[in-house]
Formats: sequence, C-alpha cells, structure tokens
Amino acid sequence: MSQHPVPEPLVLTQGDITRVAADAIVNAANTSLLGGGGVDGAIHRAAGPGLLAECRTLHGCPTGEARITGGYHLPARHVIHTVGPVWQGGHKGERETLARCYRSVFELVERHGLRSVAFPSISTGAYRFPLSEAAPIALRELRAALVRLPRLEQVTVVLFSAEDLDVYRQALAAAGAPS
Ligand code: ADP
Repeated sequence: MSQHPVPEPLVLTQGDITRVAADAIVNAANTSLLGGGGVDGAIHRAAGPGLLAECRTLHGCPTGEARITGGYHLPARHVIHTVGPVWQGGHKGERETLARCYRSVFELVERHGLRSVAFPSISTGAYRFPLSEAAPIALRELRAALVRLPRLEQVTVVLFSAEDLDVYRQALAAAGAPS
C-alpha cells in the first residue's frame, strides 16, 4: 500500500453534492444566478446568504457559460455556476450547449488551478434533458478534461438517485476503457 494513494480520476457516486469537499462543486444554475429549485436551491441553502450576495455582483450568466464564486459555508472551496440548456426536443443544439457547459466549467478549473471538481447531472432535472442522452455527453467531456488538464486529479459526478447513478454507470461501461 502506498502512503499517498493516487486518487481515482473519475468517480461516479450517489449523494448530495452540497456535502462534497472538493476544490469546487458545480451548480446547475439558471441565467439569473440568483438561486432556484433543485440542486441550485440546495447549494444556496447550504452555502448561506454570502453566496447569493456574491452572485448578485455577477449580473447573471448566459446559457452554456460558467462563473466562479466562493463556497461560503459549503465544504467545497468554490462553486462554479453553469447554465445548462432547457431540453426542447433535441433539435435546438441542446447537446452542443450541454457540452459547452462542461467545457466552460473546465476553463475555470484550469484558470484557477483546481485539482478536484464535483458535478451534478446538469440539465436533467427541471430542464428535462433526457438522462440517457446527457450522461454520455457529460462523461465524454469529463474524460477529455482529465486528459487535457495535468493538474486535475479528480472529477466526481454526484447523482441524486440510485436510478440516475445506474444510467451513468451504464453510459461509462458503454464508452469503454479510457484510451
Ligand atoms: P436543471 O435545471 O439543470 O435541470 P436541477 O437542479 O433541476 O437542474 O436538476 C439537475 C440534477 O440535480 C437532477 O438530476 C437532480 O435530481 C439533481 N439534484 C438535485 N438536488 C441535488 C443535490 N443536492 N445533489 C446532487 N444532485 C442534486
């Protein structure tokens, strides 16, 4: 056994992302960045009012882009807010926009030299992106980032339900071993 085990680079887990101690957790926000339901509401509740105060200074975020703030009372040091696409049937560029969210998050991860980041399943709640379509897009972008960013040690996907975790596991198995 090594004294300093190398972290597993890509981890899929079930749980509440507000409990995750990473350099950053990702928020599936809306364009106002002023809080909402789902994971956004949970993150704001757990972080406390300082997060909303900082978000007010950002004046929103367009769909597909990302913004970084502090983590306040969260165990995570930062929150990276990104705005996923609303699913409108799949012919409005939703897949490309979802991929752009992940890339926008990783631009900030790189710029801030972050080593660990945890994601929820962006757009698959209130924004209705089918999970079976979102999971392979997410996993492709996460693996690409792990290859591209030498300082990035661990990416975790935190699925809220066992069913969602199953879909991600199947998508990972279908994608095969990393090349
Ligand atoms: P969106 O508007 O991008 O669809 P939602 O918050 O509605 O965002 O849903 C995104 C995903 O986050 C859903 O799969 C939902 O079940 C999940 N989710 C909700 N709360 C949490 C939480 N505390 N931790 C992790 N995932 C969560």
